[in-house]
Amino acid sequence: MTEKCCDLPAEQTGFKEIEQNLKAVRYNTVEAMDKAGRTDKVNIMAVTKTVPVEKINYAESLGIDLLGENRVQEFLSKYESYSKSSEVHFIGTLQTNKIKYIIDKVSMIHSVGSLKAAQEIDKRAIEHKLTMDILLEVNIGGEESKSGITPDALFDTASAAAELRNVNIRGLMTIPPPGGNEIYFARTQELFNELKIKCHALSKMDVLSMGMSADYAAAIKYGSTIIRIGSALFGYRNYNI
Ligand SMILES: *Cc1c(COP(=O)(O)O)cnc(C)c1O
Repeated sequence: MTEKCCDLPAEQTGFKEIEQNLKAVRYNTVEAMDKAGRTDKVNIMAVTKTVPVEKINYAESLGIDLLGENRVQEFLSKYESYSKSSEVHFIGTLQTNKIKYIIDKVSMIHSVGSLKAAQEIDKRAIEHKLTMDILLEVNIGGEESKSGITPDALFDTASAAAELRNVNIRGLMTIPPPGGNEIYFARTQELFNELKIKCHALSKMDVLSMGMSADYAAAIKYGSTIIRIGSALFGYRNYNI
């Protein structure tokens, strides 16, 4: 498995490199699916943080049809220039007071880490007369520093959120602690399957968002349906956001 992640810094990653990078990600994705005996679909999301619009639109021209946004402010400043051929999902830390800015611009919110956030999305969705697809973010490593719902609280939070009329829980999202990712991906897949069985309202959940540039092959092994790829596509970022 060649998980060739981010050879070059983002500034030096041009169109040609993006094209090659995408080929590699697609190749590795197919390989990981084959190994896992999977014949369903894994969506490759391009994570756009810090990436200039021209490169995002170029990735779209190569067939990327799903974009992942982290920061509300950055997203709003770039949104108008997108070629709009892709679906856009919000994946960043969710501040409830900013939901109103994105509610009519994205088709899914991955980073729903509390009932309160789900309620706020519901409220804004009602105002806009729409239903928002959401994923519940699981803090699978139980890390203090991370947002998300702990595995212990997942069933209760999910059951309560499932009652909200204008949100539709499509599945789970996770960012595992560094190292030992396979165990965390396996555990998230278990929780996903348990939840579908135990909570009738969630039996149709179909999205598992896990895996980033460094670990997407492992995530695919454990059933990921959306891999969120930033640096393996656009080059590595010199700062963390
Ligand atoms: C930045 C980010 C990614 C992509 O990270 P890479 O390691 O660059 O692929 C995926 N998911 C979330 C939530 C992110 O913030």
